[in-house]
Amino acid sequence: KDFRNNVKPNWCPGCGDFSVQAAIQRASANVGIEPTELAVISGIGCSGRISGYINSYGFHGIHGRALPIAQGLKMANKDLHVIASGGDGDGFAIGMGHTIHAIRRNIDITYIVMDNQIYGLTKGQTSPRSAAGFQTKSTPGGAIEPSLAPLEMALTSGATFVAQGFASDIKELTSIIEAGIAHKGFSFINVFSPCVTYNKVNTYDWFKERLVKVGALDDYDASNRQIAMQQLMAHDSMLTGILYQNLDQPSYQEQVVDYSAEPLSTHDLYMEPGKFDDLMKEFY
Ligand code: SF4
Repeated sequence: KDFRNNVKPNWCPGCGDFSVQAAIQRASANVGIEPTELAVISGIGCSGRISGYINSYGFHGIHGRALPIAQGLKMANKDLHVIASGGDGDGFAIGMGHTIHAIRRNIDITYIVMDNQIYGLTKGQTSPRSAAGFQTKSTPGGAIEPSLAPLEMALTSGATFVAQGFASDIKELTSIIEAGIAHKGFSFINVFSPCVTYNKVNTYDWFKERLVKVGALDDYDASNRQIAMQQLMAHDSMLTGILYQNLDQPSYQEQVVDYSAEPLSTHDLYMEPGKFDDLMKEFY
């Protein structure tokens, strides 16, 4: 199973998004699915290009709207593994409303955010993940607002799978994505994916000096949401690994009557002439 295609990514050399692409490809192969069983849905931004760089079904959507498309796709075709992907601007600014509701809805898809703390495609403006004081063209005097905390947001929004990876550690990131794909519900994965061109603060070295693996913490229990929150706060959110997983909560689909029957996508949608008009009469 080869999830590589022959499209050359249009990312800057050294961009963290290359590693995310490789990790998705490896994880998909490792879990044993076929390219025809995977759909990658992306938003807008440098990271949004990823749907074109993986040998699978793909849809490059509109800004902040990868999740509604991905959820609709999963509901229409339960047999597809669906990965939604985008940047921190895409998911935590214009798309934040969708992000929170997708998390609490717990549809069985995987959401991977390529978090580089800046808007790269538009050449370097402050994003919701930029730290206070971060200087860019849009905040020459330094950002006034504090950075949004995505993992804490996910935990308090009812997430059943919360993880964080780092582009420099493809091995760990691959195993996180594998677990996310296998999780029966919404898996939220934030990935530190440095923008080497416009973010000269949050570099690979900057992350390496600060990140701690949850596996290195004494007696870490990923089934305990309170511990996940406490450890995130104690480490300024600089943790990688699977922070929290709830294996007991049923997914949205499992609670929808008849969802396990034939997928909508295989239904014969042909209607006899005049039938549609008859249906619409109910609403006149
Ligand atoms: Fe990556 Fe930044 Fe280049 Fe965009 S501008 S491709 S985020 S390094």
